[in-house]
Amino acid sequence: MAEGSKHIQIERRGLMLVISSPSGAGKSTIARNLLEADPGLSLSVSVTTRQRRPSEIAGRHYHFINQREFERLRDSDALLEWAEVHGNFYGTPREPVEEAMAAGRDMLFDIDWQGAQQLQEKMPADVVSIFILPPSMTELQSRLHRRAEDTEAVIATRLANSRAEIEHWREYDYVILNDDLDVAFDAVQSIVKAERLRRDRRHGLFDFVTKLVTETPALSS
Ligand code: 5GP
Repeated sequence: MAEGSKHIQIERRGLMLVISSPSGAGKSTIARNLLEADPGLSLSVSVTTRQRRPSEIAGRHYHFINQREFERLRDSDALLEWAEVHGNFYGTPREPVEEAMAAGRDMLFDIDWQGAQQLQEKMPADVVSIFILPPSMTELQSRLHRRAEDTEAVIATRLANSRAEIEHWREYDYVILNDDLDVAFDAVQSIVKAERLRRDRRHGLFDFVTKLVTETPALSS
């Protein structure tokens, strides 16, 4: 994969960037901004049995499927990970991820702590995980209301579940407090930038350095 200078390309493995947070902590906005700003990153589009929200586009935000279809995918090992979240089922289709990884492309996963755990277990070398914290529970609640896409009952469930989600913050590589979206977004971008430069991810470095140290510069006049 290309990086740095456009003349020298150092091969590296793809990155699996996992972002989790309770609903309303800003994870989806950060993910959206990241995808817009970074053409090298593509979103893993999950399957879900949840109802589509008015603002959502099928196939872009989620693949909306029924319970039977979900069970068929899960039982045929077509999902890399799956979980029940807020009473609905969610899962990551295996094939697009394996294709991206093989091609050295980076993928973004907007999944919960259960999914993050499963990916970390299966692909420890490729996963970089980030947990986004809200500044307060009051702010979390008002963000859920401001979104105005869920019923009161759904908001209440999500708020109640957010404490359990937050309990898992220690399982992540990075934790970002989102009290200012620009600052939080900048932090996520810095993480991606640094993680792409990790030595153990860039297998092309070996050949590059081997060649570099055997090179004899011509005498300068
Ligand atoms: P929402 O219904 O708000 O889109 O998502 C609810 C929660 O499910 C969020 O925390 C989201 O990150 C998580 N989620 C979405 N897709 C997946 C998935 O494929 N697997 C897992 N484990 N969680 C997911």
